[in-house]
Amino acid sequence: MSVAEAIARGELRGRLWFYTNYHCNIACKYCLTESRPQAPRRLLDEKLLLTCAQEARDLGFLDFGVTGGEPFLRPDMTSILRQLASIRPTLVLTNGTLFSDRLIDEMRTLAHLPVAVQFSLDSSDEKRNDAMRDDGTHRNVVAAIPKLKQLGIRVRIGSTVDEEDPDSIARLRQFVANLGVDADDHIIRPIARVGRAETNDLGIAVSQDNIVPELTLTAEGAFLSPAAPFVKDDRLDIRMLLTRVIQPVSIPAAAMLRFVSGHGTPSEVRITCA
Ligand code: SF4
Repeated sequence: MSVAEAIARGELRGRLWFYTNYHCNIACKYCLTESRPQAPRRLLDEKLLLTCAQEARDLGFLDFGVTGGEPFLRPDMTSILRQLASIRPTLVLTNGTLFSDRLIDEMRTLAHLPVAVQFSLDSSDEKRNDAMRDDGTHRNVVAAIPKLKQLGIRVRIGSTVDEEDPDSIARLRQFVANLGVDADDHIIRPIARVGRAETNDLGIAVSQDNIVPELTLTAEGAFLSPAAPFVKDDRLDIRMLLTRVIQPVSIPAAAMLRFVSGHGTPSEVRITCA
């Protein structure tokens, strides 16, 4: 079975993910990659990334996801997004704290391209949100969203929650709607109990049975999902590593096809990133 056939049959998600870097300007309490300013960067080379993207398109992948770490710490990020989106529609995940006037100006060059930006926002309540992430993150996200929307860039919101009660989820949904983000563009997922979340005793256990398989390329290999390349005590966990080689993409893609054909559908609680 080819990648294109597996996607057409619904056995494989059509998105290919890239981990562009592992460092971050903040250090969330549940971060699965233990990202922080001093974290090893594990940068994915721009040229290699774009070669992989072209190969992935030729194999039949439908779109791209970009995550980290905080992707916008890379000065070449808007250039990477521009080139990726000229190949396939591209979604980038961000903590939303780096959208200075200069970055917003750079983002202008993406306005006519199929790029979507997914901000992290975990609660309607500023204090609750910032207690898990960092002071000012809620305020920064709320300020950045209208600026990107004004450019015509599609905005999504990803909320990572830990045993939230239905009332606070309802308030969060309303808050997101008030920001002008469609319900279809708001994803709510549980904390994955790996990395810093495991250290802080948060979230639900992650395994091959509840992770949504989506091929994910990092500087150190190809993984089963963007939620799979955990870091604990600064060491990359390779339990869900598919292949050390990421290029040609046909090698990790073949490993992914073997996994999905032998593994069936994940259970009802599903760890996903977008
Ligand atoms: S969860 Fe995201 S924003 Fe938070 S520290 Fe990790 S990479 Fe940074």
